[in-house]
Amino acid sequence: MHGSESGGDLDHDLYERLRAYEGQAAATGGAGKDLVNEPMIRHWCEAMGDTDPAYSGPDAVAPPTMLQAWTMGGLSGHTDRSGAYDELLTLLDEAGCTSVVATDCEQEYLRPLRPGDAITFDAVIESVSERKTTKLGTGHFVTTRMDVHAGGELAGTHRFRILKYAPGAQKPKPKAKPEAKPDPEPKRPRPVINRDNAGFWEAVAAHRLLVQRCASCATLRFPWLPGCNACGSQEWDTVEASGAGTVYSYVVMHHPPFPAFDPPYAVGLIELSEGVRMISNVVGVPYDKVRIGMPVRLEFLRVDEELELPVFRAQDGGEG
Ligand code: ZN
Repeated sequence: MHGSESGGDLDHDLYERLRAYEGQAAATGGAGKDLVNEPMIRHWCEAMGDTDPAYSGPDAVAPPTMLQAWTMGGLSGHTDRSGAYDELLTLLDEAGCTSVVATDCEQEYLRPLRPGDAITFDAVIESVSERKTTKLGTGHFVTTRMDVHAGGELAGTHRFRILKYAPGAQKPKPKAKPEAKPDPEPKRPRPVINRDNAGFWEAVAAHRLLVQRCASCATLRFPWLPGCNACGSQEWDTVEASGAGTVYSYVVMHHPPFPAFDPPYAVGLIELSEGVRMISNVVGVPYDKVRIGMPVRLEFLRVDEELELPVFRAQDGGEG
């Protein structure tokens, strides 16, 4: 018995059929489409912003986190997936678990990869979970483990977990109830206030934006955290932000809609003149006029009777 009170015989039968795939091959005889090579390493490092000198020059190694990159099929696809893996996914589809989400990945590095290494790999279906209920719906976690070889040696392992699930019933959206009584005005989510960030929100209530400063090494940090990332000290004080900043980056949200938000709208990553960055709304400018580098100034937005938020007002109207 598995101690599941709600499972029932059908679920149990399905689980036994799914478990029969544990230990079967998910991919066999896979070969990297390219040798480990300097251009792919360089592109990766540029995309990641990783300037570690170990990844360039005559003795370069590949960043260990590129492990999976050497095994990927690219746009032309994979030819090495096993029948067993497809069967397992089909079985889950037929059981109503038609949606999939990647949940997590673990990697272990055993030997550095260098330009010129030829990659081979095999993957095994390592485990299939019992039926689990998550916020997305109920389904089964499927874990595969890929062993990556180079020069006849195991170079690393890549363990990858997905959730195949039946989507939960969607709650009807307010807009989908045309003649219903109007809902109370949806409210923006409340900030989660705890002992580590309470000081920040107390200051916001007093229309001050406080940034933490390490008492040991003076490194500024935001958002508020119990300890310093630079030196580990847990002693800190605060400095009050001047309120000047610039848009360091931004996204425009079109979808999905959230209650109390009215897309499209811009979400800015604001770099304060003190050097730390925070996510906030950019106001005073249309969403499509927000630009990187745009100067902004702090103000406080009264959202409702309980909530005030720091936001940033564009200073130049967003032309150009
Ligand atoms: Zn410090």
